[in-house]
Amino acid sequence: MTAEDLAQPGSRRAADRTASPGGPEVGVLALQGDVREHVRVLESLGCTVVEVRVPADLERVAGLVLPGGESTTLSLLLGSAGLLEPLSERLRAGMPAFGTCAGMILLASEVLDGRSDQRVLGAIDLGVRRNAFGRQLDSFESDLVVAGIDGGPMHAAFIRAPVVERVGPGVEVLAVLDVARDRRPVVCRSGVVTVAAFHPEVTGDSRLHEVFVRDVAAAAAPAAAAAVAVPQRA
Ligand code: GLN
Repeated sequence: MTAEDLAQPGSRRAADRTASPGGPEVGVLALQGDVREHVRVLESLGCTVVEVRVPADLERVAGLVLPGGESTTLSLLLGSAGLLEPLSERLRAGMPAFGTCAGMILLASEVLDGRSDQRVLGAIDLGVRRNAFGRQLDSFESDLVVAGIDGGPMHAAFIRAPVVERVGPGVEVLAVLDVARDRRPVVCRSGVVTVAAFHPEVTGDSRLHEVFVRDVAAAAAPAAAAAVAVPQRA
């Protein structure tokens, strides 16, 4: 899959799919990009998925995935869909989110080499530079060890990926990629916001989506999650 493939607008209208009635609904931002791939992974995990295009869709969901695609276009479409304000507000209020590639750029606090009018959501304190791996590394694959992810390295597809240039306080770096002499963060997490510079939805690895789904479940049922976290007495 190429960046051009990713940049194609989703070809079908929402049709919310019901995979697990009763569980919290999760959203995939469905304005542009690799929406279908994320929907497929989330459904394989038993989630009820809502494709989010308008503020009313956003109100239904307990967490949101922001897909890969083209962050400049997504920024414009978020504005014209009236989603920028309500989405910023939900993120400020602690809604779990997972962003891949362009989705990572949107969730960051600062974008370099973006359009002058490009907006970011500031949900994770990262400075990211668009398309910064360089021509030879435009698209490439690599195996990555991700802290906290069991089951071996993740096979990661990078497609015109952003480079993290600044990591703010409170942001955990879960995986790095060695590029020349640099070690670049490629999976980061802050609270219930997780971002990856690559596309697990394209390679079909669901383990980072599982992290997101667990965050959604915990946010939807904080009392139950806290009860699980209390160590049992012997
Ligand atoms: N280069 C794209 C951007 O700046 C991101 C590419 C991707 O999501 N694969 O938004």
